[in-house]
Parts: sequence; structure tokens; C-alpha cells
Amino acid sequence: MNIAHDTNTACPTAPKRVVGRFAPTPSGRMHLGNVASCLLAWLSVRSAGGRMVLRIEDLDPRAQSREAARLIMDDLRWLGLDWDEGPFWQSERAEIYAAAIDRLGGSGIEAGSRGLRLTYPCFCTRSELHAATAPHASDGTYVYAGTCRGLSPDEVAARAAVRPPATRLRVPEADDPAGVIGFCDLAYGEQREVLACECGDFLVRRSDGVVAYQLAVVVDDAEMGVTQVVRGRDLLGSAPRQMYLQSLLGYGNPEYGHVPLLVASDGRRLSKRERDLDLGTLRERFETPSALIGAIASRLGLAEAGETLTADALVPRFSWKMVANHREDIVVDEDFLSFV
Ligand code: GLU
Repeated sequence: MNIAHDTNTACPTAPKRVVGRFAPTPSGRMHLGNVASCLLAWLSVRSAGGRMVLRIEDLDPRAQSREAARLIMDDLRWLGLDWDEGPFWQSERAEIYAAAIDRLGGSGIEAGSRGLRLTYPCFCTRSELHAATAPHASDGTYVYAGTCRGLSPDEVAARAAVRPPATRLRVPEADDPAGVIGFCDLAYGEQREVLACECGDFLVRRSDGVVAYQLAVVVDDAEMGVTQVVRGRDLLGSAPRQMYLQSLLGYGNPEYGHVPLLVASDGRRLSKRERDLDLGTLRERFETPSALIGAIASRLGLAEAGETLTADALVPRFSWKMVANHREDIVVDEDFLSFV
């Protein structure tokens, strides 16, 4: 499960041909907070002569819009961040995800989970989940207490007649080495997580039938040939679940590079509610993206303070070592916004 290490660098050696991806969720206009992760994903790929895939993560039909996706693509182009394949739309791939969930469901015994199926129906409501919460995971999410792990077929049938279940994936017990996931992040270095302690059995499909993010992203990254996942550090804690899924589905592990978030002066993550920082507003103020790219690049050690430059001009300057040395979150304060 561990990614192979180069003994000198303690980080994974780069695969021969890098395939990276943009994976925006079209729940609104692209935001300043997303620009840094898209820029770094693109720089990492282009500096390695690799290929970029664009995947629109429009899984949840309630929250997504084609119009937002169109605007995000337009914003990426304005930023000078191009792609070679896609867009692929998750909303068009439901059958592929369903087949992967079926594969997981049929593979309990081989996976060594004590003869139990790897997936099981879960009837817990949101409030039951919170009431039965085991000690909190480090990222503030709950650890599933295993309430529906041992339901008999009769109990499942009786409950399914009342409400449709979600589908959960069993993780190995805390003392089972198969559930200890280690990897080396390109920016944040060595990571290690015991799945049973950090998340417990996790969802692969919601009770409304929509496939869970963790499952979709793993299937898509593998099927689209992605070798390098670069995204905000808020998703660092998802990587071990995704690596566990990759091993169960017989996929290789991509390398992971999580990148700093843009935060407000009080450390709060910038949100889509801050309309003044969305790309629609920023594009009204600037003819070109160079000042914005320069401001982000300077916080990452890739440009001098006050420098304005294109994404293209940053390609020869990019290195993960530099990002790793500047991995504190980027504070969007008066000083940052003085480029405005
Ligand atoms: N769709 C997610 C987002 O927009 C990113 C998922 C990923 O990069 O794995 O936050």
C-alpha cells in the first residue's frame, strides 16, 4: 500500500509520465481559494511535461450546475491553466461507480475481512450518527461507530422497507496492519493514518443513491490514468481512505501533493460566500491574471513580492521543494489584497 520511496528524498519518485487533474465541484463560481490549488496542480504537470485532465465533479444533482461548470472552465482559461483531456462529467458516470461498488460488495472473503462482506447497508440517520459518534477524528468529522455492521438479513429487510439504506465500506480493525495507511505527501511529507481510528467504516453511496465522493474520485482517477493528485490540504485526510479503496479495487496509488489553503486574517478558510473574492468579481477588476498569480506565487516562494507574471512564466520556477518550504496557509489580508 505504501508508495515506493526514494531513500534520499523520503518522498515518492515521480512517475515517468505525470497525469494530473483539475477536479472542480461546480457549486458556484471559481473562488480565489481554488486558484492556488489549480495553479499548483497545473504547474506540477506542466513542469514535468505531463498531461492534464479536467473532470467536473457534479455528483450531487442538488448542488451542481452546468452554468457554474462553464464559468469555471472559462476562469481556468483566463488564468492560463489549460488541459489536454476532458471535461469528463461525473454525473454521466453513475454506472461505472455502481459497478465498482458491486465489485467491493462481492469481495469480502478474498480481502481477508473475516469472511464478512466488505460493504453493508447502513440505515443510520444524520442525528443517529452524531449521537453515536466515537472519538472525533483529527479533521473534526465523526468516526462511524459501527451501528449497522452486524445487522441480520431479516433486520436489513425490515429496515429497508421503511427507508433506503446508504452503503458503507468496512475498514480493518484498529489492530490490523491492513488498515494502517502510510504515504509521503509531496508538500506535507510523511503521513500515517489508522482508518479505524480516523474515520471507521465510511460511505461509498448515500441513502439517496448518489455515490460518495471518496468512491467516485478513486474510480475516476484510476480510469483516467491520473498519476498525481494535487489539491487543497483540507483533503489531506481523505487520501488514506482513497488509497484503501485503490488497493481493494486493484488500482495503483497516485502520488499526492496537498497544498496550502487561502485563509482570512483570523485563520478562517475563505468561503464561496465571500463574493468579492470570486473570479467573476476579480476579473472585472483585472484585465489579466498576472497580479493575482504573482501574489499567490510570491507566498509560495515562486516569485518576488509585487511581481506580476503569467502561469506559463512560472513553469520553469516550479518545484515541490519550494512548495514544501512554504506550506503555511496563505493569509489573504490587506497586504495580499494590496495588488488590487
Ligand atoms: N471536487 C473537489 C473540490 O472541488 C476536489 C476533489 C479532489 O481534488 O479530490 O473541492
